[in-house]
Amino acid sequence: ITDSKPYIGRFAPSPTGRLHIGSLLTAVASFLDARSKRGIWLVRMEDLDPPREMAGAADDILRTLEAFSLTWDGAVMYQHQRHAAYQAVLEQLQQQDVVYPCFCSRKDIAAAKPVMGVDGWVYPRRCEDASWRIAKADKQAAWRVRVPDAVFGFDDAIVGHYEQNLAKQVGDFVLKRADGWWAYQLAVVVDDAEQGMTHVVRGQDLLVSTPRQLHLQQLLGFSTPHYAHLPLLTNAEGQKWSKQTLAPALNWSAKEALMNQILDILGLPKRPESQMTCEQLLQWATLYWDINQVCPEAQVVV
Ligand code: GLU
Repeated sequence: ITDSKPYIGRFAPSPTGRLHIGSLLTAVASFLDARSKRGIWLVRMEDLDPPREMAGAADDILRTLEAFSLTWDGAVMYQHQRHAAYQAVLEQLQQQDVVYPCFCSRKDIAAAKPVMGVDGWVYPRRCEDASWRIAKADKQAAWRVRVPDAVFGFDDAIVGHYEQNLAKQVGDFVLKRADGWWAYQLAVVVDDAEQGMTHVVRGQDLLVSTPRQLHLQQLLGFSTPHYAHLPLLTNAEGQKWSKQTLAPALNWSAKEALMNQILDILGLPKRPESQMTCEQLLQWATLYWDINQVCPEAQVVV
């Protein structure tokens, strides 16, 4: 990590639905962190998983960012155009002999009585040993990367130190799925490196993924960005606002009120005037942004 590099940050939504208050928080925080350091702020559309996507959501997200005066730099990168880059990286990892094909179904894994890790089962490594691997003629392989029995940790700007032993708590993880789609973990590492990301500001739902991304960065010789994982916003029942919890789409006619609410959640001081546009609010907040004022605990927003 070198701090002399110019700041490059990003907002990387998945077009699985419209933006909601939780995704707006991520967009605003990553924008303010970049702009306060006179950095570049990119938008990358993580349209990797067509079965989960919603038609029209990618454009809707971009129009919403514009409506809230969240103006990005350069062209939007679309992950659906990046398959060749992901394939090249998979081939490199195959050369390095750190990945292997896996034919296990969920049922096969369950039958091996796997232990529960921090993000689902720890893969019991049935296919890691080629002599055990049962290739299924009717089934494409998934590709897994081997993880070492070692701790991967980092100092998060909001959460503090975070670490995992990848072999014990996560297990060998999938880079390419058996249905042929690329896994988020591979795509995000390849694209953050491709775009020269120095800072990643995103939600705490992804904290659990970061040690896996550090491992891939190390295997590929990429540098590791600085990370900041934002508090999750929950409904009154304590559930994270998401498409699944039916987070309402953002109401454009209450833009300023929403922006003010987000700035309060992010620990900004009181605004000097009450009638500020989103653009003015963001300009003002850029001057007062202090990531140390962002509290790591989840917050209820109703
Ligand atoms: N596309 C991911 C999401 O919307 C975010 C990925 C990232 O910021 O690393 O949850």
